[in-house]
Amino acid sequence: MKEVVSIENLQHFYGEGELKKQVLYDINLKLYQGEIVIMKGPSGSGKTTLLTLIGALRSAQQGSLKVNNQELVNANNSQLVALRRNIGYIFQSHNLLESLTARENVQMSMELHKNIHTKQAKERAEHMLELVGLAERINYYPRQLSGGQKQRVAIARALVSHPKLVLADEPTAALDSKSGRSVVELMQKLAKEQDCTILLVTHDDRILDVAERMVTMEDGRLSLRFQSLNQAAT
Ligand code: ADP
Ligand code: MG
Repeated sequence: MKEVVSIENLQHFYGEGELKKQVLYDINLKLYQGEIVIMKGPSGSGKTTLLTLIGALRSAQQGSLKVNNQELVNANNSQLVALRRNIGYIFQSHNLLESLTARENVQMSMELHKNIHTKQAKERAEHMLELVGLAERINYYPRQLSGGQKQRVAIARALVSHPKLVLADEPTAALDSKSGRSVVELMQKLAKEQDCTILLVTHDDRILDVAERMVTMEDGRLSLRFQSLNQAAT
């Protein structure tokens, strides 16, 4: 199986000098094409830090971190920027721009892709919003949408350019359990259709079954001890 993410002995530190503090210790993790992996762990344990490193949103310092076979430790800024185009991000709060409609928010994420023309981008945005069940809300502004609907727009935005990797940081945290469930089921369905890999940070025990595997972060260390969810269930 193709490795989309390969992490070996990754360490991460915040601060410098006397304030320097290690937050990730010796992380080892591989993510394969098409799988959904859940990361659990207490608040402050380092989950978001790891996600932002994998997502090339923060510079990796020590060890090895490869995404699509590209080494991110010591990568330069233009390499990081290029890589970000191939990654979809979904955050806890949807991060939609309030002055743009649902379609414009989704469409905007394709503007980084020079090879997608505006007309095509508009059509793809509309189609993606239909897929996430918002056909009727395409021209609505975020303030006119419910929490679950806004998170669906964020999913449409993350997946519209068919990234091979989606990083989702507590995407259901702000939702009630029913809309949380439907949001992750939607991510799962679209990921299967596009054969993309999802790393999903969540505290929500009700959605664990969407994943093939689960890993746990504790005090900056990643444990793989609950590796197969299917085995754990039997
Ligand atoms: P989680 O997502 O699991 O809650 P984080 O990765 O956000 O954990 O944080 C891990 C640790 O790193 C925490 O102790 C947090 O206070 C610290 N931390 C997070 N971001 C920064 C930062 N930008 N500068 C300094 N320390 C940080
Ligand atoms: Mg976090």
